Amino acid sequence: MRTLLPVLCVLAACGTTDDVEEEFFELEDVTQEVSDLDAAARTIGEPQLAGAIRFLAHDLLEGRGVATRGDELARLYIQTEFETYGLEPGGVDGTWEQPVPIIGITSEVTKPFTVRSASGSITFEAPGDYTAEASRPTEVTAWGDAPIVFVGYGIHAPEQDWDDFKDTDLTGKVALVMNNDPDWDPDLFEGNTRLYYGRWSYKFEEAARRGAIGAIVIHTTPSAGYPFQVIQAGHGREQFWLPFDDSTPRLQLRTWCSDEAAKKICALGGKDLDELRASAKRRDFRPVVLGVSGELATANQVRELRSANVAGVLRGSDPALRDEVVVISAHFDHLGIGRPKRGDEIYNGALDNASGSAAMLNIARACAHLPNAPRRTLLFLAVTAEESGLLGSKYYARHPTFPRERIVGNFNIDGINIWGATTDISMIGYGKNSLTALAERVAARHGRELVPNPQVELGLFYRSDHFSFARIGVPAAYFKAGRDFLENVEGKRRVKQSYTAVRYHQPNDQFDDRWDLSGAVADTRLIFECLVEAANADAAPSWTPGDEFEKLR
Ligand SMILES: [Zn+2]
Repeated sequence: MRTLLPVLCVLAACGTTDDVEEEFFELEDVTQEVSDLDAAARTIGEPQLAGAIRFLAHDLLEGRGVATRGDELARLYIQTEFETYGLEPGGVDGTWEQPVPIIGITSEVTKPFTVRSASGSITFEAPGDYTAEASRPTEVTAWGDAPIVFVGYGIHAPEQDWDDFKDTDLTGKVALVMNNDPDWDPDLFEGNTRLYYGRWSYKFEEAARRGAIGAIVIHTTPSAGYPFQVIQAGHGREQFWLPFDDSTPRLQLRTWCSDEAAKKICALGGKDLDELRASAKRRDFRPVVLGVSGELATANQVRELRSANVAGVLRGSDPALRDEVVVISAHFDHLGIGRPKRGDEIYNGALDNASGSAAMLNIARACAHLPNAPRRTLLFLAVTAEESGLLGSKYYARHPTFPRERIVGNFNIDGINIWGATTDISMIGYGKNSLTALAERVAARHGRELVPNPQVELGLFYRSDHFSFARIGVPAAYFKAGRDFLENVEGKRRVKQSYTAVRYHQPNDQFDDRWDLSGAVADTRLIFECLVEAANADAAPSWTPGDEFEKLR
């Protein structure tokens, strides 16, 4: 090919001898680059992915719970890998780590959730009917017969001309709130695409801003995107926070309840939950005082912990661009040891996210394998405590190891394709910034198609570590497995779908030798190429004009 092209060029009489020669060398350059890229991409393979996943998801790492021995072992493994690839330490003081201080709070219900009205009382059971966790680092957190107010979606969005609260003061009260955001009208809250307003974390934050001492999010599987057991799995388990600052308003307790429990709460006040929900679909909705009060108290154990993010750096090769940084992130933590299910108490988190960590490591190795480093600097960031509220990436975003304005892009991996090769690959955050077009080009080179993640209702853009980068204005994108399988499409889709119902955040999210990693290899190579392309492009990534994060850049 290298000798043929200039000949063709001469035949086409495309210029002088000098031009031809110049073109020849340019072509050779390009060919060289492509084959270097291919050679590096080929270091990513099924055994390389499987080995890293098997190690990180092994029972010996005990589910990589925050600040446990498994957490330390995972970090040691990742930095050892980085070191063997020849990366530079990207942590603080010349180390591989950025320590992350974390507050752990374990809440035990001391007064079970009881609602009372003039017509009687109901005492609910945890975690069958509800879950409860302290929202502040004090020994006791409580609601003492606090009035419960139904606040609909609990959203205040001036740009949507939507305010569920009107002028209602929630001081000293408990908000009963629906999950999700309005999803029936494409012109309202982007239709069935879930915005941050639809996330439970927003509900708690907004209720606290309004003076509430508590909030109860009503669980339904469609509005949460996962079954109640996912929430129940967290009940009584230690919850983790970044150190508290006094300026942020805080609830006493945040809770979820089942749909049936919510119906009973409303009925005790003589109200019908379905009617209330219907009324909440209107702009003129006003909060409804249910005429019931709620009592609940927990005793809390508070401790200070330390985990760390692990960072490896590949210095950029272009003197003009090497001060800019493209980040690829994957969380290495999972839920640790928890409530046993079928005799198993280790939440291995093989897919979530030993698999994404393995992909990130493979990409780091491939990048280090390139004879010439990409023009911009690459930061490989294994973040901690994602499962505890994106704490590791949130901490990194607050204390970046490079100047914030020099961090120009972020790719995130949280779960890879373990079901087999697909023609498509999906992107969460599709269209939000220029990384979409970039990934589309790379996918097209491989005869593949980049598609928006079809589960727009899940609000996945706000649920993994790239969100922490988006919140400081960094254009970010999050890759997910495709669904157009090359073979046995329906069967594979069924198995893929069943993961959320059966294994997600359960002890049986375990590595299995039967996993088909052929699709993961193709996807990981593709993400590797996207990263290299973003690092080599003349222009840094940018937000799509009008995007919700554009103003933060
Ligand atoms: Zn995850």
